[in-house]
Amino acid sequence: MDLLNTLVDKGLRRELPTREEALAVLATSDDELLDVVAAAGKVRRQWFGRRVKLNYLVNLKSGLCPEDCSYCSQRLGSKADILKYTWLKPDEASKAAAAGVAGGAKRVCLVASGRGPTDRDIARVSETIETIKEQNEGVEVCACLGLLSDGQAERLRAAGADAYNHNLNTSEGTYGDITTTHTYQDRVDTVTKAHDAGLSACSGLIAGMGESDEDLVDVVFALRDLDPDSVPVNFLIPFEGTPLGKEWNLTPQRCLRILAMTRFVCPDVEVRLAGGREVHLRSMQPLALHLVNSIFLGDYLTSEGQAGQADLDMIADAGFEVEGAGTTTLPRHRADAVAAAGCGSGASACGSHEESGCGSDGGGGCGPCGGHAAAEVPEQAPADQARTDLVAVRRRGAGTDLAPNA
Ligand code: SF4
Repeated sequence: MDLLNTLVDKGLRRELPTREEALAVLATSDDELLDVVAAAGKVRRQWFGRRVKLNYLVNLKSGLCPEDCSYCSQRLGSKADILKYTWLKPDEASKAAAAGVAGGAKRVCLVASGRGPTDRDIARVSETIETIKEQNEGVEVCACLGLLSDGQAERLRAAGADAYNHNLNTSEGTYGDITTTHTYQDRVDTVTKAHDAGLSACSGLIAGMGESDEDLVDVVFALRDLDPDSVPVNFLIPFEGTPLGKEWNLTPQRCLRILAMTRFVCPDVEVRLAGGREVHLRSMQPLALHLVNSIFLGDYLTSEGQAGQADLDMIADAGFEVEGAGTTTLPRHRADAVAAAGCGSGASACGSHEESGCGSDGGGGCGPCGGHAAAEVPEQAPADQARTDLVAVRRRGAGTDLAPNA
């Protein structure tokens, strides 16, 4: 297939595909799907080998958000029966983080619901970051706290944060359809602030909110322009009690095409399979490992993932390996650039870490999950494919007395 040969050649050279090429990936047929996965897999292996980086979410503060992101179970007016709690203490957060690290995670993503942190919140999270770093040697820490005010990214960096996550989520053209309490530009500004402060930027998307192929290409190209080091791809978890609770638009095949398109557009970036993988990819999850080089281990912000051991078994069974703490995630050219910018993510040169996080919940929280947009829906899944049985509200780990899943 000429298209795939062209995309592989471009991916190996870190050359941007055209919009038409990206759209063509999303338009491929099921008969062509394995060829698409194989082609994008070549690009993935060129830059990341067969390594899979594990990341672990710690929801520092859950629910009761004043923002109205349609996809989010923590939004204003959400009727989803999620855990609600205020800030975890530093030791509580560190204990949760340690469970993820023990399970093989090299990055911990600290997430809090809300529009953005106050300066007092930044002090609180800074103490938590310092505690986690003291108690978990070598761990990378990413913060995901919402919109940042001037100077806050620098304070997080000074406290030891390696990265900051803030997702664009969907295209600029449809952003107003999913959220009215802040703007797409607000999100772009926060990613820029994090980057400018020397933090490794992590920013991604949520698919499955009713968006068109053009919207998906728009947001992935916008992410490429922002040049984050990691791009989490979430698939909407349609939580009952949220405006998008009935949006079951994804098939496993479409999820794989979206991941392949993201890999072709962002060939040397950490593409992370985030919230919603168990719900929408289901038994096809192992194929996604040929496209992404990073996943979340265990549970999400407000929903439960598959058992952490099942994640590890899946990686081993598919012939991939968990990335070790001493390995630099990003390709050398990108890691060196991060190190030069401020010692951030991906650079082993600084001894510390790499990135992505917040919001990864495809329906749970401040990052991934949600929303919707208009336009045509390319592959509407039949109503009987709504797998509400696979959506489980998190009842263990942070904010509970039960052990976390890692
Ligand atoms: S995504 Fe973040 S800002 Fe939006 S409603 Fe959820 S917790 Fe609030």
